[in-house]
Amino acid sequence: MGFCGRIKREKELDYKKLQEKMVKDQLIRRGISDKRVLATFYKVRREKFIPSELRRDAYEDFPLSIGEGQTISQPFMVALMTQNLELKGHEKVLEIGTGSGYQTAILAELSEEVYSVERIRSLAQKAQGLLKRLGYNNIKIFSGDGTLGWEEYSPYDRILVTAGTREVPLPLVEQLKEGGIIVIPIGNLYSQDLKVIKKEKNRIKTVIVEKCIFVPLIGKYGWDEGELSG
Ligand code: SAM
Repeated sequence: MGFCGRIKREKELDYKKLQEKMVKDQLIRRGISDKRVLATFYKVRREKFIPSELRRDAYEDFPLSIGEGQTISQPFMVALMTQNLELKGHEKVLEIGTGSGYQTAILAELSEEVYSVERIRSLAQKAQGLLKRLGYNNIKIFSGDGTLGWEEYSPYDRILVTAGTREVPLPLVEQLKEGGIIVIPIGNLYSQDLKVIKKEKNRIKTVIVEKCIFVPLIGKYGWDEGELSG
């Protein structure tokens, strides 16, 4: 084996080790216990979704910049949101906020079909290209205002919102199946509660699982862009 080949192999090996350490130290220790979720976090390579200049931090315990002022969430937060969706494998999932596509890949491993909406076109295009190259064929991505949901493919078994807002966008409740679950950060611009909302017999049951800080959900039923810059 040549020198370059050896360095490349060593780098790949390091990422695998870092990934295993992340799952044990950041997820299992903090209570992520769903076996399917953990297996997926061992499988999906987070470094592939991170800009090259930050890749060395792919398995660190914090969010990272993905460009356009947006972030890929902390691994624990991605795992916590995923676990609370209670995915069994047969679900149709709507994700609002594709970002890098990492969470989208996790959802695609754990469910039947994933529909993901991203407001920033360049991020949507980049994630779509990457997920296709990685071989996912159960994901559809659309660039637009996700606070409106994605009516064409509704209703959904699960809805995950990966940006923070003041209240649950009404179209999302309408596009959720009876018995379905929405996971969403609700609060102000600086701090939110991660809420798990269940729609049962046309009633809404809400549980708060964790404090969190997400970038704002911007759109008709979210934050107003003018409000943020002004
Ligand atoms: N889950 C992503 C990942 O794994 O990389 C991280 C998502 S990032 C924290 C939140 C994303 O929500 C950003 O990419 C942002 O552009 C997007 N976003 C904000 N408002 C939106 C909206 N109304 N519709 C769709 N996406 C939106």
